[in-house]
Amino acid sequence: MSGEVLFEQGEHKVVVFQELTPASMVQANQFLIIHKGEAMLLDPGGHKVFSKLKSDIAKHITPQSIKYIFLSHQDPDIVAALNGWLLTTNAEAYISKLWIRFLPHFGLDSQMEGRVHPIDDRGTVLNLGDCELKILPAHFLHSPGNFQVYDPCSKILFSGDLGASLGQPYNVVENFEEHVKYMEGFHRRYMASNKILKLWAKMVRQLDIEVIAPQHGAIFKGKDMVNRFIEWVENLECGVDVMDESIYQVP
Ligand code: FE
Repeated sequence: MSGEVLFEQGEHKVVVFQELTPASMVQANQFLIIHKGEAMLLDPGGHKVFSKLKSDIAKHITPQSIKYIFLSHQDPDIVAALNGWLLTTNAEAYISKLWIRFLPHFGLDSQMEGRVHPIDDRGTVLNLGDCELKILPAHFLHSPGNFQVYDPCSKILFSGDLGASLGQPYNVVENFEEHVKYMEGFHRRYMASNKILKLWAKMVRQLDIEVIAPQHGAIFKGKDMVNRFIEWVENLECGVDVMDESIYQVP
C-alpha cells in the first residue's frame, strides 16, 4: 500500500502511511501534507521505514517537493533517519530547541546541521504556499520539548504521541469507550500530568478540528470523536499525578 489519502480538496492533500513499520517495532504513522505542489513530511521515523516511505511518497510527489520535515520530538521512531531525509531532499527540518544539540548523536552530519531549525517553546507558523500550518506547543505530551501541527486547510490536528493507541485491530476509531483500553496505559505512563492535558485541551478547543491524527495507532474522525478524545484526556490523571512511593523504592 502506498499510503491512504486522509483528505483531498483542490490542491490540498493529506496522506497517511500506517503500514510501514516492521512487526517487532512500535507501530508508527507517517504523514504527508501537500499544498499546491509543496509538502511537509511529519515524523518520518527510523531506518527500517526510510526506503519504503521514500518510494511511497514518490507516488504522490517528488522528494524535492518536500519543503519541511517536522519532528514532533526527539524519539528514535521520529528522528532516527533524519540524516537520510536531509541527504535525499532539499527540505528544512524543524524540532524543539531543546533537542537540536542531541540530534548529531543519531548520525546527523555536521554539513546537515544548518538545515535543522529550532522551534521556540511558544511554537510558530510554517507556510506551505497560502496554507498556514500552526506549530502548536505540546510540551510534556510526552517529551519536554514537544510540538503538534494543526493544518487549517484540512482541519486535521497531528497530535504526535497524544492520542496514540497500541495493539488495536483497526485504523480508525469507531467506538470511543472500546478504544480507551488501547490508549490508557500509554497515556497514564508517558504523559506528564493532568495540568498539562488541561492546558492542551483549552488551547485546542479554539481550533476547528475535524480529525485528530496521532503518530501511533488509530485516527479519530469527526467532531464528535474529536470532542470525546479532548474530554477524555482533560480528565485523565497521568504521569506525576499517579507516580507514588510504590514505584519510588530502592530495588
Ligand atoms: Fe515519543
